[in-house]
Amino acid sequence: MLDMTIGGEATGTSDRFEVRNPSTGEVVDTAPNATAADLDRAVAAARAAQAPWAALADEERAAACRAVTEVLTANAEELARLLTLEQGKPLNGLGSRWEMGGAAAWAGYTSGLSLPPQVLQDTNEGKVEVHRKPIGVVGSITPWNFPVMIAVWHYLPAIRAGNTVVLKPSPLTPLATLRMIELASAVLPAGVLNVVSGDDKGFNVGAAMSAHPGIDKIVFTGSTATGRHVMRSAAENLKRLTLELGGNDAGIVLPDADPAKIAEGLFWGAFINNGQTCAAMKRLYVHDSIHDAVCDALVAYAEKIPVGDGMDENSVLGPVQNAMQYGKVSKLVADAVTRGKVLLGGKPGEGLFFPPTIISGLSNGDALVDEEQFGPALPVIRYTDVDEAVMAANDSPNGLGGSVWSADIDAAKGVGRRMECGSVWINKHGAIQPNAPFGGVKQSGFGVQFAEEGLKENTTAQVVFS
Ligand code: NAD
Repeated sequence: MLDMTIGGEATGTSDRFEVRNPSTGEVVDTAPNATAADLDRAVAAARAAQAPWAALADEERAAACRAVTEVLTANAEELARLLTLEQGKPLNGLGSRWEMGGAAAWAGYTSGLSLPPQVLQDTNEGKVEVHRKPIGVVGSITPWNFPVMIAVWHYLPAIRAGNTVVLKPSPLTPLATLRMIELASAVLPAGVLNVVSGDDKGFNVGAAMSAHPGIDKIVFTGSTATGRHVMRSAAENLKRLTLELGGNDAGIVLPDADPAKIAEGLFWGAFINNGQTCAAMKRLYVHDSIHDAVCDALVAYAEKIPVGDGMDENSVLGPVQNAMQYGKVSKLVADAVTRGKVLLGGKPGEGLFFPPTIISGLSNGDALVDEEQFGPALPVIRYTDVDEAVMAANDSPNGLGGSVWSADIDAAKGVGRRMECGSVWINKHGAIQPNAPFGGVKQSGFGVQFAEEGLKENTTAQVVFS
């Protein structure tokens, strides 16, 4: 039975909630329901640990972060199995083992970053230096789609920069995170990394964190709707915020693209983690001249993908993670079926399984195109004029990522640069790496993660004039 970690101590509660395996519906385990007092203790532990942690030499904090990276690598298989059981994603393919590999890669890279003082001026008139100071206690609130990797994206740069952390996982996927923090906090000073969980019923830990006067910054990854709540509550003590919110990424296929060459990339751009990925391609605009050939190639690739229980080593895609998400996808697909042409899937499967679904003949204004459906369904929209496609792609409140597919990289980049989003990919979709900043525009949030720019978001600048 997994507990919370507060001030380096395993902390249980009598009130626990069930976590179910989306592949089977069975209870995997239970997780603690934190009380307001538990959260207060976690914030107090983080506060007490922060000044001594920040006072360590930079290299000592780097070494501690490298030790966390080693923990992630050494325990990758155990954590991956727990992740598959609670999240549903397969062990193989772009599933749990891949997520653990990503978590360790991000942790390793971020451990090696540092923000030494910057000298802006050193003349007879005087010296001007910029020092980067930690913000204090960082609250991290994570979603259920990539629970382990996103937690690492939040806490590793925060502690690397000298902050301490209170992390809250999604009630749908708390287990691998509780275990990871238990293991990681054991190689850190007590109180540097704390985790509290809750089921969002009754006492809502995330809401309480957003309003908590002892937390100085929130890094939040989740829906735009919840992001708004976080921002409102954070106003009370003017918390710093990094908000990584929803996306409705568009892909645009130009007329010179080779359908056979791009089919695999298009499929994984859209269906990675069953489409339950903030920066998955959720709408595909294809030029009229190659529309049918692209659809055929995409369907031919998609038909071969084995969908099944995530613990089965042969599965490449698993179920939808939860019933609410399943209901949302089913409703949007049922509506789209009446408006477009089903090329693949289109009907719910057993339990929480929903087959990869591709529907053409849709356009902006159809709910499956306009809404972030966050599931294994891809609407294909035919266009004749690239300006029209760019306009349609930008006609969204979201702006996380976008892609352009073409044989002419420069032409594709030109189109991509006109897309209103934080990342643009050419002949791929959703690629991220630890040395490149990642974040959204418009209602996909603000602030960036990763790289030096992301590390800086965990600091404030102090300028010294001497
Ligand atoms: P969600 O907003 O429902 O929940 C996210 C987290 O917020 C959970 O831990 C939840 O318990 C917590 N929470 C619930 N109520 C809260 C409140 N009132 N105040 C503060 N926190 C609260 O999101 P989800 O369904 O878990 O995740 C899916 C969403 O996350 C999608 O919209 C997806 O696009 C987005 N997402 C974005 C990124 C990105 O980097 N931009 C990455 C992954 C997921």
